[in-house]
Amino acid sequence: MKVLILGGGVIGTTSAYFLAKQGHDVTVVERQENVALETSHANAGQISYSYSSPWAAPGIPLKAIKWLLSKHSPLVINPRVSTETLKFAYRMLKNCNHNSYNINKGRMLRISNYAKECLSEIEQDTKIEYEQRKKGFLQILRTDRQVLDTKKDIAVLEQFGTKYKVLDVDGCLAVEPALKHVEHNIAGGLQFEDDATGNCFKFTNELQKKCLELGVNFEFNVTASALKVENGKVSAVKTCKGDLMADKFVVAMGSYSAQLLRPVGIDIPVYPVKGYSITVPILNDEDAPQSTVMDETYKVAITRLGNNVRAAGTAELIGYNLTLSEKSRATVRHSVESLFPHAADMSDDHFWTGLRPMTPDGTPVIGKTPISNLFINTGHGTLGWTMSTGSGKLIADIVSGNETAISLDGLEMSRYPYADKVT
Ligand SMILES: Cc1cc2nc3c(=O)[nH]c(=O)nc-3n(C[C@H](O)[C@H](O)[C@H](O)COP(=O)(O)OP(=O)(O)OC[C@H]3O[C@@H](n4cnc5c(N)ncnc54)[C@H](O)[C@@H]3O)c2cc1C
Repeated sequence: MKVLILGGGVIGTTSAYFLAKQGHDVTVVERQENVALETSHANAGQISYSYSSPWAAPGIPLKAIKWLLSKHSPLVINPRVSTETLKFAYRMLKNCNHNSYNINKGRMLRISNYAKECLSEIEQDTKIEYEQRKKGFLQILRTDRQVLDTKKDIAVLEQFGTKYKVLDVDGCLAVEPALKHVEHNIAGGLQFEDDATGNCFKFTNELQKKCLELGVNFEFNVTASALKVENGKVSAVKTCKGDLMADKFVVAMGSYSAQLLRPVGIDIPVYPVKGYSITVPILNDEDAPQSTVMDETYKVAITRLGNNVRAAGTAELIGYNLTLSEKSRATVRHSVESLFPHAADMSDDHFWTGLRPMTPDGTPVIGKTPISNLFINTGHGTLGWTMSTGSGKLIADIVSGNETAISLDGLEMSRYPYADKVT
């Protein structure tokens, strides 16, 4: 069967890998000159099964107001908000209650835990290297208030059977010895030993080479502009290089997926939530993080990737704007400088921005659409790198008509009653 995948980020590439392994004739259409040059390019590198949680949580609306008033805010909202932004914010607010949070977290954990199995399968099959480290994830709490607040988080972790350790300051230093320079800035931490880190860009590039070996065709510098639907099926994708035909089509265009789907009557609520990262060369090995540290105060994740420190954060609601904001750069830098002051050469920071393809409930949209040969694999938001391998295998099974290894309940677009305008 001929399958066309639109988008060559980490999600499109993992989808291509598993579809090709199942024997299909796969083509990936990507507007950039290579894979993983948009959101999958320089993310925080967390492979964070245990930390899989929706941003829409009880208490977030109040926190958001406080953040917006602080100097180094993890949240930025463009004062000239569009209708799209308002719609997204409203839908997200509707998920900020205990019941929705528990449902959404359960769905996210289901796909993340499956992704762990699928990543291990890829590692065994391909032996690819991507600066991976399996040394866990440490959430750093700077204040006693944050330590107290984790009691609520712990109740949720218990409920979902997530393995964790509550650490005092000495415990944090044992896991991340470089924090010894800033002991006074730390009140405690939560550690997730099963989590990992890795370079998503390197992984996607290495996996693309394996895809080529499996016969996948990559069409780079090709932009898809529309889906042609005839007799209830997609007959072709219109691109800048002409129409491309296939038996089945998978939309994996990250934040841009909704724009392609809307004209054919599919209205999934995927909104671009902008984030920033800096990558700085490590100066002193022993003063750098061992794995990923999440600075809870500024919501900045600080990771070691090879010889670099990568730090990423900020959620900016400003549409498809990719301008680099110096204010956000200052926030990310401040977090690194206050936790790992001697780790890296901060004068040499590579500053980057990307658009997280976010859904209001935090869960990706994976599966069938009302158009019989059209499928979606997008909306992975803050955790697309973590979930990519599970999503890739899942969509391959769905497209092939196989039984899926995990339940699709709550992962498909049918969970949004307003999304289907086709029927
Ligand atoms: C600052 C930041 C930090 C993050 N940190 C983490 C983390 O630590 N851990 C984690 O798990 N996740 C993290 N994420 C999220 C993760 O990076 C994303 O969820 C993931 O990269 C999304 O992958 P994707 O393939 O869906 O999107 P993309 O990587 O954006 O891929 C979509 C592709 O589609 C292509 N495309 C778009 N439109 C068209 C078109 N019309 N025609 C042809 N091609 C098109 C694009 O060029 C792009 O290559 C982070 C994100 C950000 C922004």
